[in-house]
Amino acid sequence: MGMAFSDVIMTDSDKHITIADKQDRPGGHWNHSYPFVRLHQPSSFYGVNSRDLGSNNIDVTSWNEGLYELASGTEVVTYFDTVMRQQFIPSGRMQYFPMSEYLGDGKIRSLVSGAEHTLEVSQKTIDASYMNIAVPSMRKPPS
Ligand SMILES: Cc1cc2nc3c(=O)[nH]c(=O)nc-3n(C[C@H](O)[C@H](O)[C@H](O)COP(=O)(O)OP(=O)(O)OC[C@H]3O[C@@H](n4cnc5c(N)ncnc54)[C@H](O)[C@@H]3O)c2cc1C
Repeated sequence: MGMAFSDVIMTDSDKHITIADKQDRPGGHWNHSYPFVRLHQPSSFYGVNSRDLGSNNIDVTSWNEGLYELASGTEVVTYFDTVMRQQFIPSGRMQYFPMSEYLGDGKIRSLVSGAEHTLEVSQKTIDASYMNIAVPSMRKPPS
């Protein structure tokens, strides 16, 4: 969601954005999904506005036969990584801090070194962690 939000802001304005994310690469919880998990909906409905996910193919085999393709977790993570590295960062308007935890009040902490750093926020701070998603591999099995 943070990536989709940033994409709209970067497309429709000349604003600069800083993303701090605990993950070591873009893609959020998809970095932890089991490999057999795919999107539940056609790839073309998912991702950021400015770039298509998938090729709008119709599956010709298996249980999704005759329906639009559903991206795998690997495709989703690769897609968001591509958006970050080929669009956001080269624009010169994105600062990206992976493996960095947002602590509040503009402070981030590196999960590698533990060093804390205060960001200069000129306009708004957006909390994109509201959904607080945990896929099964991120937590203990329920008792
Ligand atoms: C298995 C599965 C399949 C799904 N399939 C679909 C689908 O087909 N279609 C659909 O529309 N939706 C689907 N969803 C819903 C999906 O979760 C959302 O579409 C979307 O990916 C959620 O994005 P998010 O940014 O809210 O969460 P996340 O992807 O979890 O991203 C949140 C990010 O915030 C980071 N973060 C959290 N706290 C902090 C902090 N303090 N400091 C720094 N970083 C922090 C996390 O590390 C993470 O990278 C699926 C969900 C699951 C679990």
